[in-house]
Amino acid sequence: MSGDALSQDPAELRRRIDTTKAHSARVYDVFLGGKDNYEVDRAAAAAALAANPRGYLDVRHNRDFLRRAVTHLVEERGVRQFLDIGTGLPTGENVHQIAQGIDPGARVVYVDNDPVVLTHARALLTSGPEGRTDYVDADLREPALILEQAAKTLDFDQPIALVLVAILHFIEAEQAYPLVRDLVAALPAGSHLVISHLTDEMHPEPTRAVQRTYTERGFTFVFRTKDEVERFFTETPGITLEEPGVLPVHQWHPNPAPAPPTVDPEYFESLDDIEKIRYRDINDVTDDDINVYGAVGRKD
Ligand code: SAH
Repeated sequence: MSGDALSQDPAELRRRIDTTKAHSARVYDVFLGGKDNYEVDRAAAAAALAANPRGYLDVRHNRDFLRRAVTHLVEERGVRQFLDIGTGLPTGENVHQIAQGIDPGARVVYVDNDPVVLTHARALLTSGPEGRTDYVDADLREPALILEQAAKTLDFDQPIALVLVAILHFIEAEQAYPLVRDLVAALPAGSHLVISHLTDEMHPEPTRAVQRTYTERGFTFVFRTKDEVERFFTETPGITLEEPGVLPVHQWHPNPAPAPPTVDPEYFESLDDIEKIRYRDINDVTDDDINVYGAVGRKD
């Protein structure tokens, strides 16, 4: 069970890791070019890539939207606290590194229900001395537990950005909208809501082909339309959707992604399709590639 005292114990977390089934956080890590994944996860990623060869761009651009949204909120909106639910495996630039890179005093609480994420997060997501970083082992479907645990690190009298990036597609509609309302209700004025969401609205064929490869492996993927993503903002009391509204993630406040690591062309050619992802320049993206919407709203 998540959220209990036992599950904070590293041995207990390790017992919860199942390496026989692909896990969303680890498949996502494969697409980011990470190494914290198992053979089953790489097989799932390979099947998805066979269904949509440029599908890695959705994942890489989703992550880049997160970078730009956090940067925007710290630099332009003065936000210094983040509640990041559905953290994913630590990668190059995580929310606290981005935020604390601008203001070392920024505080971040990470929440995830995957034991692999939590074990890695504890080891790798460490804060500088001025800021604070904490982890909560909980499920998005337990908002009261998340809020109670987050209050140990975050000041709920000061603005907080609630980050729900690439997680709401795991939650059915009747649960998803009330969950967002419950979490936002606890946040003070000046807080923000950051959402990204998979959609099959822009390119139904490749996205549904990818979805099938995941549903065969037991993942749930709920696609949402632009209107349905907008409803997370318009139907959550106190939230106003900010400009430029809900857009494909690569179009939201575009700003070139960091250059990929340089690599010998011969070495690059020797890699398989999955390994090549790490060295791809994602600035080479078109509107035909992206199937993720992103948006930011403000609470007044
Ligand atoms: N937000 C990150 C990672 C997205 S991957 C990013 O956009 O880069 C999705 C993450 O959500 C995974 O780490 C997975 O373990 C987590 N997750 C999925 N369903 C969840 C749930 N119901 N509660 C908490 N975390 C969940």
